[in-house]
Amino acid sequence: MTDRSLLVLPGDGIGPEVMAEVRKIIDWYGTARGITFDVTEDLVGGCAYDAHGTPLTDATMAKAQEVDAVLLGAVGGPKYDKLDFSVKPERGLLRLRKEMDLFANLRPAQCFDALADFSSLKKDVVAGLDIMIVRELTSGVYFGEPRGIIEEGNERVGINTQRYTESEIDRVARSAFELAMKRNKKLCSMEKANVMESGVLWREVVTEVGKDYPEVELSHMYADAGAMQLTRWPKQFDVIVTDNLFGDLLSDLAAMLTGSLGMLPSASLGAPMANGRPKALYEPVHGSAPDIAGQGKANPIACILSFAMALRYSFDLGDEADRLEKAVEKVLADGKRTADLLGEEGVTPLSTAEMGDAVVEALQAGL
Ligand code: NAD
Repeated sequence: MTDRSLLVLPGDGIGPEVMAEVRKIIDWYGTARGITFDVTEDLVGGCAYDAHGTPLTDATMAKAQEVDAVLLGAVGGPKYDKLDFSVKPERGLLRLRKEMDLFANLRPAQCFDALADFSSLKKDVVAGLDIMIVRELTSGVYFGEPRGIIEEGNERVGINTQRYTESEIDRVARSAFELAMKRNKKLCSMEKANVMESGVLWREVVTEVGKDYPEVELSHMYADAGAMQLTRWPKQFDVIVTDNLFGDLLSDLAAMLTGSLGMLPSASLGAPMANGRPKALYEPVHGSAPDIAGQGKANPIACILSFAMALRYSFDLGDEADRLEKAVEKVLADGKRTADLLGEEGVTPLSTAEMGDAVVEALQAGL
C-alpha cells in the first residue's frame, strides 16, 4: 500500500487515449523510482451518463472527496449535445469543482524552446517563458447574485453581479503567495481598482495578505494593462493572481502565447485536507476533441504535464515533476511531434501511444 491515492477519470473522446499514456508514466514511477500510487479509475461525463444516467454518480463524487488527487481527461462530445442541461457531460466536471470547493485554478504558460516557433509572437518574446496564472474559480461575476434577464420599462436588462468577500480573496491570494514562494518570489495581482469597488477590496486584501509573505515582491496592475503587458513582454511576470472573469481571459491569452492546446495542463486546488494535502483536480485545458477521437492522433502531453503538476502540488515531489517536464522537453528537442505540433515538412507525426512511449524512454534515459 502507498499513502498516495489518485482517482483517474479519463472521460470521453480523446480523454481515455491521453490518459492511457499517463498510466504508462505512473507505472514507470512505480517500477523505476519506487514511487507508487493507489489508483482507482472511474467514469465521468458522457460515458458516466451512458452507464448510469448521470455525468457523475454520488459514489464517484464521494471517492473524489477522499483521494489525494483527481486526474481528469476530458468530457463531452456531439452525441451528448442534445441532452438536458442538468445531465450534460460538463455538469460532471462542474459538480467536481463545486463540491470539492476548488477555488484556485493554476494555469501555467510555459514555452518549450523547441516549440517557440509555434507562437504568434516573436521567438525571443516567448522562448523560455514560464509563468503561472492563478485564477479565482468559485466566486465573482459568474456566481454573484442578483443575476438574470429582467424587464425594465419597455426593454430587457441583463444583470450579473461582481461580488467578492474578504475571505474569498484572502484564500486565493494565500495560494498565490505560497506558489510564489516555491517559484521566483514575485507576484502580480490584477484587478480594475480604478473603476470597480470589488477591485479596490481585492487590492486591499491582497496587500494585507502580502504582509505574511515579506519575501515575495508584490505588484499590482489593472487587468487591461496586464493583458497588454502579457502580449508585449510576458517574461516580466512570474505568478499572476486575478479574479474569475479576468483570470478566464488572461489565462487563455497567456496559454496561447505558447502554441498548441495539446500542450496545456492545469490544476484546481482547494483547502488543505486532514493530511495537509490540498483538495486537487488536475486536467488538460483541452476538451474531448471529437474530430480526432479514436484515431490515435491526440497529443498526450497536456495530460502528462497535468500529472507533473499533481506530483508537485499534491505529493510534494517537485524534483520528480522537474524530471517529467525535462523528459517532455527532451522529446520535443529531439524533434518528436504529434500531428498538432507539425510545422516542418517531411516530419512524420507520432501517434498518441508513440508519444507516451517516447516520454517514458526519455524518463528512463534520464536516470
Ligand atoms: P477541444 O479542446 O476538444 O478541441 C479544439 C481543437 O483542438 C480540435 O481541433 C481538437 O482536435 C484540437 N485538440 C484538442 N486537444 C488536442 C490534443 N490533445 N491533441 C491534438 N489536438 C487537440 O474543444 P472543442 O472542439 O470546442 O470541444 C469539443 C468537446 O469538448 C465539446 O463537447 C466541449 O464541450 C468539450 N470540452 C470539454 C472540456 C473539458 O473536459 N475540460 C473543455 C473544453 C471543451
